[in-house]
Amino acid sequence: MPEPDDTLSTPTGLPDVDTVVTYPPGATSSAGRVLHVEDLGDGRSAVLLDVTCVHPVTAAWPDQPADRAVLQGAGMTFPVVDAVVGGIQDGRLLLGSDLPVRIGTEGWVFVVAHIVEGDGPAAGTEVRAIVDADHRAALSAGHTVCHLASLALNAALAGAWSKDVLPDALANPNFDALAIETSRIHPGGSVDVYRIGKSLRRKGFVATALDDLDAVASRANMLLAEWVAAGAAVRIEREGDGLSSRRAWVCELPAGTVHIPCGGTHASHLGEFSSVTVALEARDVEGAREITMTTTGRPAR
Ligand SMILES: [Zn+2]
Repeated sequence: MPEPDDTLSTPTGLPDVDTVVTYPPGATSSAGRVLHVEDLGDGRSAVLLDVTCVHPVTAAWPDQPADRAVLQGAGMTFPVVDAVVGGIQDGRLLLGSDLPVRIGTEGWVFVVAHIVEGDGPAAGTEVRAIVDADHRAALSAGHTVCHLASLALNAALAGAWSKDVLPDALANPNFDALAIETSRIHPGGSVDVYRIGKSLRRKGFVATALDDLDAVASRANMLLAEWVAAGAAVRIEREGDGLSSRRAWVCELPAGTVHIPCGGTHASHLGEFSSVTVALEARDVEGAREITMTTTGRPAR
C-alpha cells in the first residue's frame, strides 16, 4: 500500500508538524492550505494552516501582540480576530493560556491558530494570509527599540552590582533579564516593568543605584543615541522555519554584534529611527520598588 499523500495530517486532522512561519524574515503575505478548523464553541473557530505570515501572540510571554490580518480563500475574506500560539499533543489542540508548556517543548507540535468568527474556510481550502503591513512595521519597530532599551538600561546600571551575575549580549550584568516582570510592545515602542525586591538585592543589585532615575535614563539615552547614529544592521537568525524553531535577534552594534533569543519581528536597521529614547518611572508596591521603562522609537523622515 502506498503511503497516504496527506503526510501533514494525523487521523484526527490535526497537523503533526509545526506551522511554517514566514514572518521572521518580514513576510506580510503568504499562501497556505487549511489543515484543520477547530470549533471553539463560542461562535468562533481556530484555523490552522500549513504556512502563515501571521505573527501570533504567545500567552506565556505576550510581549509582541498578534498581527492584524485576514485570510482570503474560496472567494471569501475571513478577518482574523486574534492569532495565538497553540500546541498539539495526543490529538488535542490547546490554545493560548490553556497551553501548559513553553513553545519548543519536546513531544508537542506548535501551531499558529488564526481565530475567526464563524466556521472559517474549510479544511483543504487554499488561502492567502494578508497582514496589515503598516501595523506590523510599527510593531517591528517597537520590538527592536524594546531590545535596544534593555541593553542600554543594563549598560546604564552596570556599576550597580556587588556580585557577578548573568551577563547580557554586551557582557553587562543582565538587570533586564533578572528584574523583568512584564514587557509589552506596541506600535513604535514598548513598556517594560521591573521589580526590585529582596531576591534581586540578594543577587547583588544595589538598589540605591535607582535613586537618581534621571541620571540612569540619561546614560541609557546617550548610548541609544550612539547606536541609532551608527545605523546598525538588524536581522533575524533562525535554525528552521517552523514556529518553534530557535530564532535570535542579531544587531551589529558599534560595541559588537549582539544575539538575543527572540520569536518576534523587527526593523531591518537602526537607520529606520531618528531617535530612540527611554523614560523611567518608579513606584513602591508591596515592599518592593517597581520601575517602568517606556521606550519610544521615532521614525526617520
Ligand atoms: Zn524579542
